[in-house]
Amino acid sequence: MKIREIRAKSIITKSNLPDADYVINPYIGCMHSCLYCYARFMKRFTGHIESWGKFVDVKINASDLIPAKTTKYCGKSIFLSSVTDPYLPLERKYKLTRKILEKLIPLQPNLSVLTKSDLVLHDIDLFRQFKRCDVGITITTLNDNLRKEIEPFASPVQDRINALKKLKDSGIRTYVFIGPILPFLTNWKEIITKTKKYSDFYMFENLNVRGPIWHSVEKWLGQKHPELLDNYRKIYFSKSIYWNNTEKEIKQFCKEQKVACRVYFH
Ligand code: SF4
Repeated sequence: MKIREIRAKSIITKSNLPDADYVINPYIGCMHSCLYCYARFMKRFTGHIESWGKFVDVKINASDLIPAKTTKYCGKSIFLSSVTDPYLPLERKYKLTRKILEKLIPLQPNLSVLTKSDLVLHDIDLFRQFKRCDVGITITTLNDNLRKEIEPFASPVQDRINALKKLKDSGIRTYVFIGPILPFLTNWKEIITKTKKYSDFYMFENLNVRGPIWHSVEKWLGQKHPELLDNYRKIYFSKSIYWNNTEKEIKQFCKEQKVACRVYFH
């Protein structure tokens, strides 16, 4: 893993995500190495020759780029993070996310944080100081063997559930991001049942296989789940109503379970 310290020119970026006005990415690159990572397109902006997942640029001046006084972000939604995880193992050393949160508190944006790491627990004291703050944990599966296949360097499943519980117990508004849903592998009903005591709402995203992602998914399925390959090909390369049906099922199930949900299917 190549780690490089860099000085960024800006840190709060306008967002085109549906629920965020701005995004903050304290790092470029990601150590979690998710099989389905959508952020790998970022590599072409970095000048790195290492493949995606093999480098991280650490924006060491990130918090200095946040103004001490402005009303610009008050009540606007800021999301951490869109193309990295704000709680990479490197956060233990650099504490970039922590320093960013400290600078954001006086600005009082509506904060949303999403991670696959239980390091998020280190910042509970800061989350509490935002009037509006949602902290989300991504859970794609409850099966830790499958988790090791698809998100090898992120926190184990049980650690994520424990983190969710601790956040909730600390009075933080929490959510579970179930995504990407992997057809025939992500048991989203079980995830909801297991976590609903600790989650205020759920977000869902389906697996998108655009660009090089299909190549990774196809290779992985071929090695680990060959019996699913044909089904995936049918879903992605023929006219399929799989995701329409899944979306309906999710909404119906969430209604029955009385849990709030937002579905972001591609
Ligand atoms: S945590 Fe997010 S950015 Fe990091 S590898 Fe996984 S999907 Fe990509």
